[in-house]
Amino acid sequence: MDKIAAPRGTADLFPPESARWQALEESVHRIARRFGYGEIRTPTFESTELFVRGVGETTDIVEKEMYTFADKGQRSLTLRPEWTAPVVRAVLEHNLLAQGPQRLYYIGPIFRYERPQAGRYREAHQFGIECFGFAGPEADVETIALAHEVLRAHGLGVTVAINSIGDATCRPRYREALFAHFAPHRDALSPDSQRRLDRNPLRILDSKAPEDRALVASAPTMLDVLCEPCAAHFARVREMLGAIGVAYRVDPSIVRGLDYYTRTVFEFISDDLGAQSTVCAGGRYDGLVAELGGPPTPGVGFAMGLERFLMILAKRGVGASAERRGIAVVALGEDARRRVVPLVAALRRAHGDLPVTIDYGDGKIAAQFKKADRANARAAVIVGDDEVRGGSVVVRDLATRVQESLAATSDDATADAVLHWYAALPAAADAAA
Ligand code: ATP
Ligand code: MG
Repeated sequence: MDKIAAPRGTADLFPPESARWQALEESVHRIARRFGYGEIRTPTFESTELFVRGVGETTDIVEKEMYTFADKGQRSLTLRPEWTAPVVRAVLEHNLLAQGPQRLYYIGPIFRYERPQAGRYREAHQFGIECFGFAGPEADVETIALAHEVLRAHGLGVTVAINSIGDATCRPRYREALFAHFAPHRDALSPDSQRRLDRNPLRILDSKAPEDRALVASAPTMLDVLCEPCAAHFARVREMLGAIGVAYRVDPSIVRGLDYYTRTVFEFISDDLGAQSTVCAGGRYDGLVAELGGPPTPGVGFAMGLERFLMILAKRGVGASAERRGIAVVALGEDARRRVVPLVAALRRAHGDLPVTIDYGDGKIAAQFKKADRANARAAVIVGDDEVRGGSVVVRDLATRVQESLAATSDDATADAVLHWYAALPAAADAAA
């Protein structure tokens, strides 16, 4: 029979790669908590209408990337293509804003019908935060600082590119200026951008089409036409980023693909990613909560692509070599195998954190050591016929290959003795030297 493959643009995750994901996820949970953020989880699918209204009809996401389907009750549903609109929906549905400002973070999959390539998938994973209720530039800076901290914690120094795209006062002026710039060259624009020219000329700035590049480069910038309050907000963001030591550069070409952004927008861009260079993107969205039926509420947030983040780490060789850790139990023969089952259970009970593995096969001792080595175990507990008869176990440091015999009494006492011996082992790095 033919085998069935996973759908294009999706990936399976298994060891040892899944351990890299777990480590990254644990670190972002920790960092988000340190900044006072709590986790929010929302459904994988939502009403299609939520994204049409919350992301914007003229965006790439809504125009061509959504996984939309009718369920058996003929409701139009869409697999979550981004998290901000669902988070706002949930915040409003549960009236969380009544308790004051909210700091929320999420980790999970997004679904977009895109052309799959390195760093671009149809199911991808994002970590992100949303901060509701603070209109001042401090919240923009805290948001950028949190993303910066995730990168810094993994040894990545990446410069953040920032821009301001104004608000309801000054952006209409900018739209006019852009229309005046592009309209005389309508025929030279890509077909997508020709459509955008009438619907939303700002979106042309986000175009990836090569034929648009020169016209985009010569377009007027938003920074030239910011109204006075928007200009003051942007100046304070820059000043405070400087004060906390986050390196940034102003890049007027950043406009962000989603319609709901206002004022500050930013992207973390890595040279290690080739064409898909943006690892994290975000900004302020003061109009979105009201747009989705809530009280006027300022908001700011970002989304970080975890696949792209791990690609950068892999390119730089960060976190590639895992430290030896844990105990491999080696049982030689059927009697020994029966004997060690309760000992393995006692070891796993006694230590909440240490991996304890066992191979139930009939392999020779050398083959079992090789497997333990490959699993990166630090130590082995060996039980053969002699040990079963003599009431002992052999413990072996797999880094130094030094071994000794320990008396085996009850399983719990034996487990204690083994773990006591394990705790006294020299650090693996020293042992190897
Ligand atoms: P791009 O311009 O690369 O299409 P975007 O503007 O659509 O990005 P956002 O919606 O801002 O991206 O998503 C935030 C981050 O999520 C991106 O910077 C990227 O790291 C990641 N991301 C978005 N779409 C994908 C995808 N299809 N595959 C992998 N990662 C993605
Ligand atoms: Mg995109």
